[in-house]
Amino acid sequence: MISFISKECDIQIKLSPTSLATLNKFRQTGLKKEAGGLLFAKELESNIVEIEYVTTPTKFDWRSRFGFRPNKREAQNLINENFKRGLYYVGDWHSHPQISPVPSDQDMETIKDIFCKSTHSLNYVIMLILGTTSDISKSYVTLTDGKDNYCCNFKTQD
Ligand SMILES: [Zn+2]
Repeated sequence: MISFISKECDIQIKLSPTSLATLNKFRQTGLKKEAGGLLFAKELESNIVEIEYVTTPTKFDWRSRFGFRPNKREAQNLINENFKRGLYYVGDWHSHPQISPVPSDQDMETIKDIFCKSTHSLNYVIMLILGTTSDISKSYVTLTDGKDNYCCNFKTQD
């Protein structure tokens, strides 16, 4: 199982094979539109989070080549439904048409906003930006505690 590890903040984020397979379908190759969804974990330990399940775009989301805006009500429904089956909402993902995604200023605002305005189960929320290659280590992972603290220095490990 692939892990994103940050030594700096002693956090390990694992991606289940199923989650990885789902994400892979939405890599923005060719002229595909941006995609995105929610990240869910089964068990929560303070510094190890295993992403067990990821959702995919719903028909209510707004999607373009360079933008993705989830429908908030639909996202809340997904959070509630998954909670009932023992899965905790821990963050969001979206795709970029870049090999090594760079978060936009808007992305950094969005993740802070998510932290402040949603109910989540960790002291932080995770944001994963999916790149165009199947090499997930090129994708971008960050997390925030809702203040100006970001932890971005993640490296992957098998
Ligand atoms: Zn973005």
